[in-house]
Amino acid sequence: MADSSVKIYFLGGLGEIGRNCMAIEQGRDILVVDAGLMFPEPSMYGIDIILPDFTWLIERAERVVGVVLTHGHEDHTGALRYLLRDVPTTIYGAPLTIGFAKHRLMEAKLPGSVAYVEVQDGETRKIGSFRVEFIPVTHSVPSAHALAITTEAGVIIHSGDFKFDQTPIDHRRSDIARLAALGDAGVRLLLADSTNAEQPGYTASESSVGVTLRRLVLERQDRRIVIACFASHLHRVQQILRIARESGRKVCLLGRSMEANVKLGRKLGEIDAEGVTFVSADSLDDIDPASVIVVCTGSQGEPMAALSRLARQDDRFFSVRASDTIILSSHPIPGNEWSVGRVIDDLHRLGAEVIHSDIEPVHASGHARQGELKTLHQLIRPVDFIPIHGEYRQMIHHADLAVEMGLASDHVWICEDGDVMEVTASSIKRAGTIPAEYHYIDGGDGDTSDQILDERRMLAEHGVLQVAGVVTTKPSLKLEGVTVSMRGWFDGKSTDDIRRHCENEVEDALLSAMKSGSLSEEEANKIARKTVGRLMGGKYRRQPVVMTAIAVI
Ligand SMILES: [Zn+2]
Ligand SMILES: [Zn+2]
Repeated sequence: MADSSVKIYFLGGLGEIGRNCMAIEQGRDILVVDAGLMFPEPSMYGIDIILPDFTWLIERAERVVGVVLTHGHEDHTGALRYLLRDVPTTIYGAPLTIGFAKHRLMEAKLPGSVAYVEVQDGETRKIGSFRVEFIPVTHSVPSAHALAITTEAGVIIHSGDFKFDQTPIDHRRSDIARLAALGDAGVRLLLADSTNAEQPGYTASESSVGVTLRRLVLERQDRRIVIACFASHLHRVQQILRIARESGRKVCLLGRSMEANVKLGRKLGEIDAEGVTFVSADSLDDIDPASVIVVCTGSQGEPMAALSRLARQDDRFFSVRASDTIILSSHPIPGNEWSVGRVIDDLHRLGAEVIHSDIEPVHASGHARQGELKTLHQLIRPVDFIPIHGEYRQMIHHADLAVEMGLASDHVWICEDGDVMEVTASSIKRAGTIPAEYHYIDGGDGDTSDQILDERRMLAEHGVLQVAGVVTTKPSLKLEGVTVSMRGWFDGKSTDDIRRHCENEVEDALLSAMKSGSLSEEEANKIARKTVGRLMGGKYRRQPVVMTAIAVI
């Protein structure tokens, strides 16, 4: 009898940073690991977020036995609300991870009820025909887990997002001993985070950031301090709270998600705010500036977040002064560099001192560098390895590292979104592909296609030109009442000039088309569109989106 096989479907996160999602199929059961979103590039006009294509899962909704979340970051949980709409199922994860996800799902007001199962560190859960063990790992959000998934093909380890931080803020280290034990017992397949696979050495400990922040605050006794960081980075926030406590400063939390996450963190015991005095933003004016630390969102230059509002002087209660020191305790996610740069410039314009990760080590990544990845490979020693979670080049570097660590290159597989791998106890092979296109979400819950996005790019780059007119066929063919309107470009000539050209050329084109018979309105518009397009490209060297409204009477 052939070995039982297990199939792995990569729905997102391979070849990009974001929309992490994969599915494992064993017999009838399908287990989903993470359901994340991705943020758009600036050229994706009007797009709010990008999701994995869930078509394959939706078509098999009744076979999905659960979604396991490795941790609470948006690139792992942010697409849940869209998945659960069509695939109602149970969500498994650490209490904090579930807490973050629940918050977002409640905002989304899903129609059906969602079942949540909170898991503890080291716990093993039977989910359908799978056994899933939640192994503690350190990352830039508390309570992250790697997963050991026992299948009929053997144990599959999914690293989640991780680093090996030996001095984490909550003293909860990655369970290296457990990973080693699993490695000793034999791991069929390793799937591991590739984000920092290009970086040699080791990722700095989160504690080292606290040391820097403490020094910067103590050196600035007479200044107001504003620190921006990810609202989900509770360990960063915890360190700031400790510094505030030690230096006798009050804390003001700015930004909706910062307030909500700190509240959740305190409720779950992830944040110790004992002895910290919190003040609200509307009382900042009455407080000695040197006696407060403001902790805010917006470290990625997000236009609506607190820091951008401060930079634009657009906050009701708080205006930035020359006596403020603003620390961006973060590193821009690829694609955000430009907006972060603008925010920093604007803060400088207001006279503030600005400190960011290029100036002082005020940030540490949450992802393993080569040193830690090598340790992981040494501990696990899998039969086969697939790099996940990263840009294509990062996955290639991770694959090279696996080979360097002793794995034969025919046991290392580069996969991309949509790829399917079939694994048995003794074999592994590629098994086709499934749909994995970008699924664009455009304001609210609206979907947007690639075609619409292309049109938006055309509009943005070339503008739009509309030609309207009336074709009379009796007594003779004539184009009358032509109007031309343009948006998004102007080449210095008057619209009259363009209108005259359009009028002449369109009339000629329609006339010659009429010679071979009558002309429908649809045909007339098509001809007009083509003619105007050609005229614009030839005479004006422009390619605006051409719209026509030609009536035939
Ligand atoms: Zn993460
Ligand atoms: Zn991630």
